[in-house]
Amino acid sequence: LVSREAQAESSVVKVGDVRIGGQELVVVAGPCAVENREQIMAAALAAKNAGANMIRGGAFKPRTSPYSFQGLEKEGLQMLKEASRAVNLPTVTEVIDEHSLNLSLNYVDMLQIGARNMQNFRLLKAVGQTDKPVLLKRGMSATIEEWLMAAEYIMSEGNQQVILCERGIRTFETYTRNTLDLSAIPVVKRLSHLPVIVDPSHGTGDRQLVAPMSLAAIAAGADGLILEMHPQPSKAVSDGAQSLTPEGFNNLMRQLTILAPAV
Ligand code: PEP
Ligand code: MN
Repeated sequence: LVSREAQAESSVVKVGDVRIGGQELVVVAGPCAVENREQIMAAALAAKNAGANMIRGGAFKPRTSPYSFQGLEKEGLQMLKEASRAVNLPTVTEVIDEHSLNLSLNYVDMLQIGARNMQNFRLLKAVGQTDKPVLLKRGMSATIEEWLMAAEYIMSEGNQQVILCERGIRTFETYTRNTLDLSAIPVVKRLSHLPVIVDPSHGTGDRQLVAPMSLAAIAAGADGLILEMHPQPSKAVSDGAQSLTPEGFNNLMRQLTILAPAV
């Protein structure tokens, strides 16, 4: 189902009024995690003002350490929905199990499967049984073949609204958090009809690298970007170092408009 042989023309996935995989670039922006009402509202306003198409915000955080902030869960989903209504932009949030999935269905417009759960096959099947678009991140050690087969798990349950997200893979390099595999974009575009977006925030771990890698991703053929942006990155509870400031995000959006006038 995922392959170009199954469907020759590129898929467009609709999230509210947003079309992912069509002519226009789609930019999703927001904090790593929903932290409180003021934070997500400020991030949503900054995203809207700069021209973002969707907002992101984690309410269930799959953290490396069990002692790190795990997310505001249902309260976070409520805050995300409130912010979404205030700025009239659709939302995406990560689901990590059936509980978070069932809760999130009531609050968000798109479901995210994180890198750590890319091969959680029961979770893939569960989101495949919903009618929500699914943003499927590449696992940090997943081959392109494994990533596409993860998409196949979702689609084989009936849900064809899958968007692939390259977010960097593990290599020997330590200067960057991950190695953003931009060559995956043209490879996946050749193999699959699904839209592909890029996450240069997790892909690099460093806000200074986010703008150049965003531009490179678009030049390589990505259908859009998902970017971490925080009203005060130095105060962020997670991923502050890779989060753009509202100003930095606005500057990047201006650069993208020059590169791809449709943004
Ligand atoms: C995220 O987008 O917040 C996230 C945890 O990303 P990834 O699954 O790519 O690490
Ligand atoms: Mn993050």
